[in-house]
Amino acid sequence: MPTYEFECNKCGHKFNLLESINEHDKHKEKCPKCSARNIKARVSAVNVKTSKKS
Ligand SMILES: [Zn+2]
Repeated sequence: MPTYEFECNKCGHKFNLLESINEHDKHKEKCPKCSARNIKARVSAVNVKTSKKS
């Protein structure tokens, strides 16, 4: 499941949100730690799809 990875530009706090966040909501997101809206978001989809085939 793709998650959105955010990083606060203010305090550097990193957090992830599930894909239920849509494009618009992403822009409303704020740091859960310092409530700053100065965050950058990036999709960290494809969670290191290791070849687990065993
Ligand atoms: Zn913050």
